[in-house]
Amino acid sequence: MSVDHVSIREVGPRDGLQSEDPIPTADKIRLIDALSATCLSRIEAVSFVHPKAIPQMADADEVWASVRRDPEVRYSALAPNVRGVRRAVDAGFEEIEVVVSASDTHNRKNINRSTDESLEDVAELVELAHGNGASIEVIVATSFGCPYEGDIAPSRVAWVVDRAIADGADRVAFGDTTGMGTPRRVRELLDAVKPNYPDVPMLLHFHNTRGTALANVLTALDYGVTEFDASVGGLGGCPYAPGASGNLATEELVHMLHDMGIATGVDLDALIEVARMAEGFVGRELPSGVLRAGPRTKLTPIT
Ligand code: MG
Repeated sequence: MSVDHVSIREVGPRDGLQSEDPIPTADKIRLIDALSATCLSRIEAVSFVHPKAIPQMADADEVWASVRRDPEVRYSALAPNVRGVRRAVDAGFEEIEVVVSASDTHNRKNINRSTDESLEDVAELVELAHGNGASIEVIVATSFGCPYEGDIAPSRVAWVVDRAIADGADRVAFGDTTGMGTPRRVRELLDAVKPNYPDVPMLLHFHNTRGTALANVLTALDYGVTEFDASVGGLGGCPYAPGASGNLATEELVHMLHDMGIATGVDLDALIEVARMAEGFVGRELPSGVLRAGPRTKLTPIT
């Protein structure tokens, strides 16, 4: 299947910063504004979670109130429950993500409920969102493996998708929460879920924890997947492996896709500058190879 355009959702400001030490509100606003200016089509801006659970997102309302909202960009927010979805629609978000883990153990560790119990909420979240002109995406965490349970059967992920779509979810996403995805696992999962719902948008969220993120993207492109999450600079570590890489770096994804003739709309040079800015904000070297080396078209002067 030949893909000529990919829609990238930049998740650095939310998923990325959530796993970094907290940074000032003003820096978050600068980061989102700079990302908007790179012509990314989608940005996950904030999450409306309890500040005790995720102190890094305690200023979500303030950040969202102050960013420059580019009419060309689709902004989204993550919400963990009814209260969060209410806050997101009140803030004016039209795209809201909720997370359900395919692994019971992971779901219980996160929110002390089984996967089945979390799925029971989806219909209510969808109703609240739809009643306020917003859509709901169900992100299936641990789709490619769980740090507690190990491999997750694709049939289990398919069951979560069936439930979510039956209850009105507008889109689904598959999160490789701990970087256990490989091309083989991507194929097995997409074989299990994609043919059943040809009209439901499906997005993939890969981590480069074990170096397989771009290989996973290539595999998914063969299945006609056109939506991927990525995080500028590779912001956000792996929550289960201190010091390890987490999110796929957006500029690495853009760099590869453009060279393949696949359009993203993103200004790669501008994006690399934002990655450099993000590195300054978090005060550590980010894991992106394209940030370190520059794009492959950058020539070395002959001396
Ligand atoms: Mg992530």
